[in-house]
Amino acid sequence: MLKIDNIHTYYGHIHALKGISLEVQQGEIISLIGANGAGKSTTLLSISGLEQPRSGTITFDGKELNGMTPDKIVSLGITQAPEGRRIFPGLTVLENLELGAFLRNDKKQIKKDIEFMYTMFPILGERRNQLGGTLSGGEQQMLTISRALMMEPKLLLLDEPSLGLAPIIVAQIFEEIKRVNRDYNITVFLVEQNANQALKISDRGYVLQNGVITMTDTGENLLKNDEVRKAYLGA
Ligand code: ATP
Repeated sequence: MLKIDNIHTYYGHIHALKGISLEVQQGEIISLIGANGAGKSTTLLSISGLEQPRSGTITFDGKELNGMTPDKIVSLGITQAPEGRRIFPGLTVLENLELGAFLRNDKKQIKKDIEFMYTMFPILGERRNQLGGTLSGGEQQMLTISRALMMEPKLLLLDEPSLGLAPIIVAQIFEEIKRVNRDYNITVFLVEQNANQALKISDRGYVLQNGVITMTDTGENLLKNDEVRKAYLGA
């Protein structure tokens, strides 16, 4: 579904991605794990068109994404839920969700989908008329993910969904990611420093170090791998 082939992405003179290749198959959950500054966010930005790789190719469903604008890439079915819970603080929960569906015009289905988000995260339903900015960090993260799902993506990109959240909320969020993947056939590519939780729900994972992929295996094997355990799982 998504194929990244030897991309190099720069910020001025900073060589952030140094020849990254990876693949995401339809229906998979894939994790990209790595320390601070490894290049995880840059990889997502390169996929969503917000940073253009200087060389290498990215293809999605056989179409080359290089040079496409971010909105064109969204229209192909790739949606990114940004890091840091970037919701609209001055809009209500409901309005935030409606905005997520701005490219759609199937009003009835949009309503149904919003109700679905409320069953997935009941707290959002309880707070539907509350301003986004007044939600807790965990609730804002739930809203970020739900808003991204309102786009009906084929491929959902998640940037550190567990960042700064209490373990119990993290567990709930990962469980729901697994559920939308399984029940709604949404392919998920997520980047995480919280390697443990991410790898547990992942079919496969890639380890990124200083802009280079150093390892790839099934989520299960990476969890058992000594190097991964030492570097990313605090073992
Ligand atoms: P984090 O978990 O801290 O977000 P990351 O793995 O997502 O880390 P990136 O944010 O992709 O890492 O950063 C990769 C490299 O590119 C780092 O060396 C970072 O300092 C650099 N970098 C990222 N964004 C910019 C920018 N806008 N301008 C210059 N350098 C940047």
